[in-house]
Amino acid sequence: MRPDGTLPSRVIDLNRCYAHHSAADVLKHALTDPQVGRTALVSSFGAESVVLLHMVAVANPATPILFLDTEMLFPETLDYQQSVAERLGLTDVRIIRPDPEEAAVRDPQGLLHRTDTDACCALRKTAPLHEALKGFDAWITGRKRYQGGRRTDLEFFEAELRVRIKINPLTHWAPGDVQEYMLNNRLPRHPLVAQGYPSIGCAPCTSKVAKGEDPRAGRWRGSEKEECGIHFVNGKVVRGPLPAPVEEPQKEDIMATEDTVIVTDTGFGPEDWAHGFATPNTLPATAGAALAVDLSPDADLSVLDGRLESIDMIRIDFPSFSDGRGFTLARRLRLKGFHGRLRAKGHVIADQYAMARRSGFDEVEIAAELARRQTEDQWLARANWKAHDYQARLRA
Ligand code: SF4
Repeated sequence: MRPDGTLPSRVIDLNRCYAHHSAADVLKHALTDPQVGRTALVSSFGAESVVLLHMVAVANPATPILFLDTEMLFPETLDYQQSVAERLGLTDVRIIRPDPEEAAVRDPQGLLHRTDTDACCALRKTAPLHEALKGFDAWITGRKRYQGGRRTDLEFFEAELRVRIKINPLTHWAPGDVQEYMLNNRLPRHPLVAQGYPSIGCAPCTSKVAKGEDPRAGRWRGSEKEECGIHFVNGKVVRGPLPAPVEEPQKEDIMATEDTVIVTDTGFGPEDWAHGFATPNTLPATAGAALAVDLSPDADLSVLDGRLESIDMIRIDFPSFSDGRGFTLARRLRLKGFHGRLRAKGHVIADQYAMARRSGFDEVEIAAELARRQTEDQWLARANWKAHDYQARLRA
């Protein structure tokens, strides 16, 4: 079943609900909580991966595991992946590889990592993962607060691109907790750890670490690169060091400086989609980066047949207050199985917000000038749309 409510409000509720739970509890509940939805664990089968793999195996060994095989991994990692999956009884490990056509064009010799590591990671990690996560509402990561940067205030649940939830069960763990968990549960170690690799990525970009060095010092040694870029911040793929947190804009600033305002159940907010919008005529032939599509209210949905799973957001135009075709189109998209983010854009007034939500929209995009005609409280008063959510089945 598709989760109910907007993603930011669900994340707030989930963090409140599981605030005092253990890592294993958070993970176990996340796999069954309808507010989280379809969840996968993304695993590199690296030095510490076995902890989350074990927790998932205990909770539900049929959980989808997405293993990113960049085709640049150590042979030991490939062997370890197979033996760990077998030993833990994981039944749904999905091997995610780069698009062969893209790889043939952009990295025919397999040497891109020597000249442009960001482009190589985008080709071999970011794009395949982005593609593999379509169809999931949430993914589990092994990130922890002690790793620093923006991670110092990492919560169990966070909203990513307003598209899906990222679950960080180990966020509160200290450095010694991982080792202790592996010892207590007699979990197999990656064979390269004993050979001086405390952090293991692709073979060309991972070197041994000397005693006293940071455990990640062997990753991209000699370059400034620190992250592979599979995490997103503020709607952008992060490459390099994580940026400092960005101040949440004040409501008054949004109204004063933005051309448009995004309205959700939690009130007014700024545009957070940084990837542009295609039309049915300009849809890229192959899926890759984040994808959003603009539709007119009389759009023929057959043009999206076979493409819905690869679209992150659909924005439907409302050319006038009295034009209700967008509501019908939204319902039909949900009935066709579109699970991404659905936005109504244009002339949608506060009185129509509840109708928009019941029709399957997640949010409304209006001109700032229109937003100024009523207070945020007036919108929120109408956000109690779930009391009469007789069309919830459309989103199931
Ligand atoms: S870690 Fe190195 S080899 Fe692996 S995808 Fe990134 S740049 Fe390429």
